[in-house]
Amino acid sequence: MQETQSRQVVIAGAGVAGLTAALAFAERGYRIKLFEQAQHLEAAGAGIQLSPNATRILRQLGVLERLLATAVRPEAVVLKDAATLRKLACVPLGQAAETRWGAPYLVAHRADLQSALMQRVSEQPGIDLIAGSRVTDITAGPKGVAVTASVDGETVEAGCLLIGADGVWSSVRETLARKAAEFGRSRFSGELAWRATVAADSPAGQTFAAIGAADCVTAFLYPGFHMVAYPVSRGTAFNLAAFTRGKRIAEGWSGHADPTSLSSAMRGAAPALVRLASEAAPWTAWPIHTVEQRRWTTPEGIALIGDAAHAMTPFAAQGAAMAIEDAATLAGFVAASPADLEGALTAWEQARRPRVAQVARRGAVNRLAWHAAGPVAMARNLFLAMRSPEKLAADLDWLYGWRALETSDSVSS
Ligand SMILES: Cc1cc2nc3c(=O)[nH]c(=O)nc-3n(C[C@H](O)[C@H](O)[C@H](O)COP(=O)(O)OP(=O)(O)OC[C@H]3O[C@@H](n4cnc5c(N)ncnc54)[C@H](O)[C@@H]3O)c2cc1C
Repeated sequence: MQETQSRQVVIAGAGVAGLTAALAFAERGYRIKLFEQAQHLEAAGAGIQLSPNATRILRQLGVLERLLATAVRPEAVVLKDAATLRKLACVPLGQAAETRWGAPYLVAHRADLQSALMQRVSEQPGIDLIAGSRVTDITAGPKGVAVTASVDGETVEAGCLLIGADGVWSSVRETLARKAAEFGRSRFSGELAWRATVAADSPAGQTFAAIGAADCVTAFLYPGFHMVAYPVSRGTAFNLAAFTRGKRIAEGWSGHADPTSLSSAMRGAAPALVRLASEAAPWTAWPIHTVEQRRWTTPEGIALIGDAAHAMTPFAAQGAAMAIEDAATLAGFVAASPADLEGALTAWEQARRPRVAQVARRGAVNRLAWHAAGPVAMARNLFLAMRSPEKLAADLDWLYGWRALETSDSVSS
């Protein structure tokens, strides 16, 4: 492999995973070719919660300071019964989160996160972002990985490592799956996320402020349904996300689904919450897909990260956080073993798998608990009532207090 090629990393996809990976590798002296199929980097979706395990890494990469200008630091996560609007539990965030977990818990518009990452990428001369360019083919061999991408025709770019950060419908993963059964496909989870963003001074914004906590993340729990709401864009708007069972709609991030399935799931909920759902319309439906597969890396130098590797349900609000952790740790492992890429990739995958599996399990438990009915819901409410806010925060230490200690070179601030 030529010297230039041995220090070049090719990345497919400039979402949260790809942009973070580009920054983490550039910080360690690698040159980056970052291919993104979209002509303009539009932020998919509305809001995003960024827990301290993710913001700690964003701070180290010089992204957090840019994000803080628009993001909101919520004071708490408040769980409420969607039928009675009674408060069930509260996990303190705000300054308590920074003190406890060493980095802020933030809620932001996705466009603001994307723009903070992009600003930082544009300052790095070693990162070449090529928009409007889809990775279409991959050739991997002992001399590195070559990627074919469409840019006004075709271009071939080679590097020591290809990172498939191309999301839940990853074409890098598809290519690998054609040759090896250990690489999998995405699967519809049977759940739909309904999303809307409302101005704080709109009727929907005022309805939410009256029943929720305007400076917090509020989750309304109901059998078979829950809604999460929080402020974004310096508090000028609220992001609402409701979750129900639903039918698979067209493959892609978002689309149209029959809104009566949202209203039927809310039947019997508090009238003010039902009014909020109607005032916040139109809702965009997001089919939730997951990816489970036995491998994320190949010995020739390909690594899948973020949703391309392990898309998970959003019930722990950790998909983007896992993408950020993946990106930072991968750069740490690869840079720490420049002469043994295969060993570095294997060690990285072994280190990441238990963490990602534990987080995905937490999401599954949240869904069961939040959508519970009857005696299970009563047991949940009793459990929450007996647990102090301090104890509930301590239950999250493993998740939000996480630091990458796997290699001396990994992000560890
Ligand atoms: C309703 C909902 C709420 C969520 N809330 C949260 C939350 O609060 N907190 C959290 O941490 N996570 C949350 N998530 C999860 C989070 O959104 C995802 O895990 C995260 O966006 C994954 O990032 P990614 O970069 O891996 O993939 P993506 O964001 O999908 O980025 C992939 C990029 O690759 C590009 N691409 C695809 N194919 C190619 C190709 N062949 N060549 C070049 N480019 C290509 C795409 O255009 C895209 O830009 C939520 C998810 C959902 C559905």
